Order: sequence, then C-alpha cells, then structure tokens
Amino acid sequence: MPKRLIRGFMNRITQRGRAADRPPSRDRLARADSLRVIVVYFVMGFAWILLSDRLLEVMAPDPQVYQRFQLYKGWFYIVASAFVFYLILLRNFRALRGSSETIRRDNERLERMVRDLTAARHELDREKEAQVVLGENLRQGRDLLDNLILNAPTFIMVVGTDGLVQQFNPFAEALTGFRAAEVIGLPVREALLPPEARAQAGARFADLMTGARVQAVEMPVLTKDGGALRLLLNHSVLYNGKGQILGVLVIGANITERQRMEERLLGLAYRDRLTGLPNLARLFDEGPSILRGAELAGRKAALCYLDLDNFKHINETLGHDTGDMMLRHLAGLLGAPPDARAVPYRLGGDDFVLLLSDLADTGEAGRIAESVLRRIGAPWRHDGKLFHASASAGLAFYPDHASTIQQLLQNADAALSHAKARGRNTLAVYDSAMRESSWNHLRLHGAVQEAIANGGFEMHYQPVVRMSTGRVESFEALIRLPDGRGGWIPPSEFIPFAENSGQIAPITAWTVQAVCSFKSRLHEEGIREVPITLNISGRLIMDGSAIELLDGMGAGAGGTCRGIDLEVTETAAVIAFDRSIAVLEKLKAMGFGILLDDFGTGYSSITYLRKLPVDKVKLDRGFLADIEASDRQKQVYRATVGLAHIMGLPVVAEGVETEAQKAFLEESGCEYAQGFLYGRPVPEKEARALLIRS
Ligand code: C2E
Ligand code: CA
Ligand code: CA
Repeated sequence: MPKRLIRGFMNRITQRGRAADRPPSRDRLARADSLRVIVVYFVMGFAWILLSDRLLEVMAPDPQVYQRFQLYKGWFYIVASAFVFYLILLRNFRALRGSSETIRRDNERLERMVRDLTAARHELDREKEAQVVLGENLRQGRDLLDNLILNAPTFIMVVGTDGLVQQFNPFAEALTGFRAAEVIGLPVREALLPPEARAQAGARFADLMTGARVQAVEMPVLTKDGGALRLLLNHSVLYNGKGQILGVLVIGANITERQRMEERLLGLAYRDRLTGLPNLARLFDEGPSILRGAELAGRKAALCYLDLDNFKHINETLGHDTGDMMLRHLAGLLGAPPDARAVPYRLGGDDFVLLLSDLADTGEAGRIAESVLRRIGAPWRHDGKLFHASASAGLAFYPDHASTIQQLLQNADAALSHAKARGRNTLAVYDSAMRESSWNHLRLHGAVQEAIANGGFEMHYQPVVRMSTGRVESFEALIRLPDGRGGWIPPSEFIPFAENSGQIAPITAWTVQAVCSFKSRLHEEGIREVPITLNISGRLIMDGSAIELLDGMGAGAGGTCRGIDLEVTETAAVIAFDRSIAVLEKLKAMGFGILLDDFGTGYSSITYLRKLPVDKVKLDRGFLADIEASDRQKQVYRATVGLAHIMGLPVVAEGVETEAQKAFLEESGCEYAQGFLYGRPVPEKEARALLIRS
C-alpha cells in the first residue's frame, strides 16, 4: 500500500510536468482543493485547542485527571486528524489513479496511430516504386506487343467495335496477300470473309461485344487471289482502363493444310481402298441416323447383305487380280446409278451391304435386292474376256427385325448364311428361326463330320433310261445322310453346307469309293455293267482338286475303277470358265465322260456349250415341272433340246414324273430320261435287281 502511494505521488509529480497542456481550470481546481484541506485543518486544530482545553477544565478539575485527559486529547487529535487526512488522500489518489489510467490509454492509442501512420507511409513509398516499375514494364510490354504483332508468324488482326479492321499484321498480309492498307478501315466481314461465313461471323461479333470470349473457331478467310484459307481463330475483347470495350484482338493459326490432311485421312478411314465404297466404319457411323430418319418419316428401312458366290475359290484359282477386278465390278454395280435409297458399303472381302431406306414396304426391299442380284448375274467383259458372277443376299428389316444397325447387320448376315445354304444366287429374308438355324448348322457340321469319319453315308442309285427302249442305260449316284431317325438329311441341304465348311473333298472321296466298290461287285457277279454318273461339286472343278481326287482313287478309264461319268453343274463350269475348261479337258483325258448337269438354270449360252468339253447335257427338272400348263415352256424346252443337239450332245431329261411329260419328251427328241416315273433313287441292292430285270 505505501509503495503504491509513493508511486502515486511520483506519478502525480511527473504527470504535472507532462500535463502542462491540460486545461488550466483543472489545475486551479486542484490548488483550491489543497487549500481547502489546509484551511479545514487549521480551523479544526484551532477549534480543538480552544474548545478542548476549556471543556477539559470543566470536566476534569483535578490536575492529575486533567493531565491524563490532556494526553488522551492529544492522542485523539492525532488519530482524528490522521483519519481525516487518510480520507482526503484516499479520494485524491483514487482520482489520480483514474486520470493516469486515461493518460496511459491515450498514450497507447497515440503510439498505435504513429505506428499505423509509419506503415502507411512505407506502403505509399512502395506503391510509388511499383508504379515506376509498372510504367517501365508497360512501356516494355507495349514494345514487346508491337514487336510481336509485327514479327509473330501468326495471323493477328484488331477489329474495332464498329467492325472495321484496325490492325493487320505482316504475317496476315503474307497469308492473305492483302496489304494492311487495303483492309484497314474496311468492314472485316466484307473484306476478309466469304459470303457463306458472314452471318455466322456477325453473330459471333455480337457475342464478343457483350464481353464473351470466343475461342478456337474455324473460319474460312479470303485471300487476294480469290482463294480461301482455313484459320483457327481466337478472339479476345480489348478494354480501356475504364472497362469499356475497345475492340477485338483476333489471332489465327493457318490450318488449311491440316484440314486438307484430316479430310483425306477421314476419307481413307471411311472409304474402302479397293472399291472406293464407304466402309463398315462409315456404315456404323451414319447407319443409325439413316434408320432413324426412315422411322421418323414413317418409312421402312432394310439392310441387304450381299456376298459373291464362290468368291474364295475364284480368288484362289483365277488370282487376286481377277478377284479384285470382280469386286470392283460389283462395287460399280451397287454404286451406280447413285440412289439415296440404297447406299452401298463394302465391309471387306466379298461382303457388301446395301442400306435401304425410304421404303414404302418390305416388299420394295425384296424387289431392289432381287434386281441387284440380277444385275450381278449379267455377264461382262474385261480385257476382252467374258466374266460371270453370282451373289447371294440376306435381307433384314428395320425396325421389324432389329433396333440397331449392328443387330440389323447380324440378322441380315444370318439370312445370307441361310441363302447360301439353300444354294447360290438366292435371296433370303431374315426370320427369327434363323438364329436357331445357326444351331442347326453346328449340328449338321457334326453329323457330316461323323459320317465322314465312320462311313456313315449311304449311296442311292437312280436309273436313267433310254427313251426309245425304256432300258436302264446308266445310274446317277446320289448320296444320302441318315438323320438318325430313319430318314435322310437331303443332300441339297448338306452339300452346299459341306462346300463352305471344307468337307466336300472327303465326301467326294467317299462317293468315289462307294461307286467303285458297287461297280466292282457288279463286275464280280457278272451283272451287266452300266456307267454310273457321279455328281462333282463345282468347287472341286474350279480349284482343279477333282483331278487329284479321282486319279488317286483309281477312277477313270485307265484306272482300276472304270465306267464312271461325272456330272458337273452348268453354273460351276461357267463361273471360272477358262479354268473349268482346262480341268474338264484333263478329266476327259483321264477317261471320264462329262455330263453338264442342271442345264437351263444357268447361262445356257451356245458359246459355253460349244467350248465346254462335255459329252451329254442333263436338262434341269425344274424345266419340266410345269411343262404341261404352258405352251411357251414347251417351246423353250424344245429349243434347249435343239440347242444341245446342234452341238451334237445327247440330252437327258431329269425329273420325269408323268406319262404326259414322257410323251412330250419323246416328241421333243430327248434321248434319255430320269425321274420317279422310271424309278426313284434306291439302295445298291435294289439297283442291282433293277439291272438284272432290265
Ligand atoms: P441333282 O444332281 O440335280 O440330282 C437330281 C435330284 O433330283 C436328286 O435329288 C433326285 O432325287 C431328284 N429327282 C430325280 N428324279 C426326280 C423326280 O422325278 N422328281 C423330283 N421331284 N425329284 C427328282 P437329291 O438326291 O435330293 O439330290 C439333290 C442334289 O444334291 C443333286 O441335284 C446334287 O446336286 C446334289 N447331290 C446329290 N448327291 C451328290 C453327291 O454325291 N455329290 C455331290 N457333289 N452332290 C450331290
Ligand atoms: Ca446330278
Ligand atoms: Ca440335276
């Protein structure tokens, strides 16, 4: 406590000096206060001395008592005055403390203010320095920009808010051929943009004027020589210090060459190189929108999957150049005349697709596909040589059979496999059973494979009679594949399939072996020997493998197994014409008689007939089937027989079922006949009996 008091006094003394600037009224007030205390002290002391002695005299007349009281009175005075001083000092110290606290706070505030002020001054200094640097940078920046605009190998142009060119850099001059003076001050759209790009550019300029950033826009830009460049443009809006738009800075890269390259690459990516037709990628790319377009228009669409018959063999036997030529020919047929309703694609190999749209009904797709197949079937000349081709086609409809282009393609492909399995030169329309049929194909493959491995086939023989005598002159060997339930899988079903799955050579080997052993048994038993004709797949003729196969089996006139003739279909002989002639001649030289089968269904041209080394022709049974109903058909039949006769070839009529047909054939001059009327194909034992009988 005394320490605090002393500190208070000291403070008060020091404060006094510092507080010289305090208001004088307060100082005076303090002085008056002190004076008042002294006066009170004096008055009190004086009164006390006067009154207390007097009172003491009255109260204590005894000098001894008086003296004691005198002592008490002295003590009392000291205590009382000390108490009064204490109160006065307490009050003053309190007031003193309060004011010194205020002074301390004022002091602190002052110090803070000084600090802030100094900091602000430093900041100001720094800013001033920065401004100097900025000014310098700005100047350098402007120099750099000018330099850049002048020398940058980039198209740079400034366009004002009025759309007039303000700056045009030397590179832009070199690129376009325009001098800066020729375009500055002109409206950019008229001066530099081709008419078709102006509307779009106008809209973009309006956007820019609202402060929008327009980046990476491709634009054609005119050149002085009347051409156009392709530029990739970036636009930045230029502002003044107040944020007002001054114009637009346009920076452009020349992408003319790059774009040309891209277009070329795109063309390559989307085009088949051999034929120039769009490819599978293109089909997948644009197919969906073509389908959707047809659907929106309430029309049908379809996909026709086409594939050349025997193309693999043509390629292998005639060479790839011929194969390529055929593919180009086919592409030409599909692509010309261009028809927006039938867009052709080449998927690869000999797989082609026609995407049909805008069709009134599904029948229309069928008609288009059939007419295409007919066009493909027409012979054509190349390098002075005559060529023939045929194709098979599968059709699937949108949206009936599929909802996507991929599915449509798959289903059309399934239909195509079906068409192929039914024979060549056919059209098949997809149906949901075809999915199942691919399972059937698998099963068929297994059954054929097993029959090849275990000799599971059977051979039946159908008699061919000479019309004039009714005697059996020969047999046609017809293969049978038991279906395991007491019936047969017809050869028309599994032979084309086996041709495609590489099983035809072992099947043929089995048939040769079966016929040879039948012949040798007839020989051993001394039964009249007649020629037996064997059907040879066109594939084996076209690739020449029939020669090795038959030679190796000892067939032919010079071999251990004689008296076999070969039936070759007209179509197979004609497709690879020159090659087939060579193979047939070789076979003939080996001692085989050659019979042209199914005559009348293919090309039936006199040229072929003259050139082909054949000994007999067999008129297709389809020719005879409805002969009774049509006089015209009869005339055709007679003419065909006549044609063969002119070539010196005897004719076998196939499929004779009725007496009327027989009568007609006799009258037409056919030498031989074959059909249910004379006898169905029968197993070996019955065939033997027939021979013995006739
Ligand atoms: P294709 O060479 O035209 O054989 C004649 C077909 O006509 C045989 O059918 C025969 O049974 C049938 N046919 C004969 N007369 C009549 C008749 O009066 N009316 C009717 N409706 N049909 C008659 P198949 O045996 O079903 O043979 C069908 C085809 O399978 C043959 O046609 C032939 O191209 C092929 N094929 C048969 N066996 C063999 C073979 O061993 N090898 C090869 N590569 N193909 C064979
Ligand atoms: Ca035949
Ligand atoms: Ca036939």
